[in-house]
Amino acid sequence: MAKKMRRVRTFARTATKSQEKKLIENSKKLRDNPFIILPECIDESCKKYFVKTRKRLEKISRFADDLDKLEKLSNKKGLEGAFAGTLSLALSEKAPYLGVLKFPTGDITYAQRGKAEKEKLIAVQHFDDPIWRLLGIKDLAFKKKLHVYSWDKGFVCTGLKANPPKEFVDFIINKLGFSHKNNVIFCKHINPEKARNQEFLNEYYLRINWKSTGKVIAICEDCTKSTKNTMFNISKYMLSPDLSYDFEIDVVAQVVKRADQKQDTKYLQDYLSGKLTDHEFIHKNIKKQEEMVKQSEEKILVLDGVSYGSNVKRFVDALKPNKYEKMALEFILEKIEEPLIVSEVSSNKILEMYWDQHAKEFINSIVDDKQMADSLFQLDDTPSNILTMVFEYRERQKILSKLPQYTSLPPLANFADTVARTYKTFGKKETLSEIKKKPDTPKGRSLAYAFLLVFRKGEDTKWQYSKQEIEYGEFLKEYAKNLLEAEPQKYSKALQDLLTASGSNEKIV
Ligand SMILES: [Zn+2]
Repeated sequence: MAKKMRRVRTFARTATKSQEKKLIENSKKLRDNPFIILPECIDESCKKYFVKTRKRLEKISRFADDLDKLEKLSNKKGLEGAFAGTLSLALSEKAPYLGVLKFPTGDITYAQRGKAEKEKLIAVQHFDDPIWRLLGIKDLAFKKKLHVYSWDKGFVCTGLKANPPKEFVDFIINKLGFSHKNNVIFCKHINPEKARNQEFLNEYYLRINWKSTGKVIAICEDCTKSTKNTMFNISKYMLSPDLSYDFEIDVVAQVVKRADQKQDTKYLQDYLSGKLTDHEFIHKNIKKQEEMVKQSEEKILVLDGVSYGSNVKRFVDALKPNKYEKMALEFILEKIEEPLIVSEVSSNKILEMYWDQHAKEFINSIVDDKQMADSLFQLDDTPSNILTMVFEYRERQKILSKLPQYTSLPPLANFADTVARTYKTFGKKETLSEIKKKPDTPKGRSLAYAFLLVFRKGEDTKWQYSKQEIEYGEFLKEYAKNLLEAEPQKYSKALQDLLTASGSNEKIV
């Protein structure tokens, strides 16, 4: 006996005064009306399922004033044992220790008496709670396939048919806390008419068709982040042999928008059993759809939930690439044959996905020099940056190819020509270092100074030049500028003019 007491205490907690008072008050109410723990039946055929139970409870009530007898009876199995044990609380007026059971709906405390089943004790002692009282008749309802509805103001059994009372339905709708209009219960992101017809919306949504009530519940993916499991929030107030008879549950989502397809909702059992929240349920279904599309053989391009079929151009436009990325993406995506399903990605990211496989070929199509193309492809940089370099390189090659070719140039002419070509291909910075390689003659130095003046670098370097070189440089500045800016067909003349002006008798051949 001592041993047993210790065991009891390990899972018992000391009752608070208010818990104890409440339990004793409830047990006293049961003395007046034992049937308060059973649902009301809507008709005679329904009542017959509870006849035996009522008789047993009635029999126990006869001993409501006999503590010894009640304690003995509380060793019985089933609802009657729990009922007897609870009635004994009304006589002893004591419940100092309480047991605790954990449920998905929360922890609940109860007073253990005799060998009565815990769940039944909870139901009898909390007969005024719409959720806990269902535990008392759960096994009976499942066995007989009964439908029972329990809310703050009612406790009703509708027998074999799912037939929730209007008051119950209103209670549930109120609990869900969403708008209710024309038989649709919906979050503010959902168009209720479309949800009723199970149409695809821009928002993915959970849709529950509560068949016996004609009500449809529709909650968008975003709002399901805070709803936990809506089906459980409803079903915890009822007993039903199989929820899927009365509730049709769907995730209405179409990862790939195609006119003809109805998607089958998966993971229904995991959802009904409470393993998945609303949000997880939607999310897993979307992932499943994506997987199925990805496994398909055909090429299909999907960006942010919108399918562009095999239309590469429209898909690429939707990515909003820069002009270089656009050319590369169009080239590369024409080559792929498998589905590509992405969301919230940059052009660069997609280029990265296919870079090793297809970028070399693309760069080769832009840059003629194969060696140069290879080294550009292998650069340690992002695809987007590499593409910019590829196209800039090509631009420079274009300019150079249009300039006249000279077989041999005398030194001063060669210097001016090199400076001008460097500027046209690589820009100002490279050119400034090229200018430093000037011929070390008065003419060469004057010419170098003239170029520096064009780039507004005269002042910085003035001290390196003689007065004469500076004067001559100032005179040559305009000629130097003409050469740097010369169109290809005027290039030779500009070069010759510069040489002549510098007092050289070199001739360009
Ligand atoms: Zn919403």
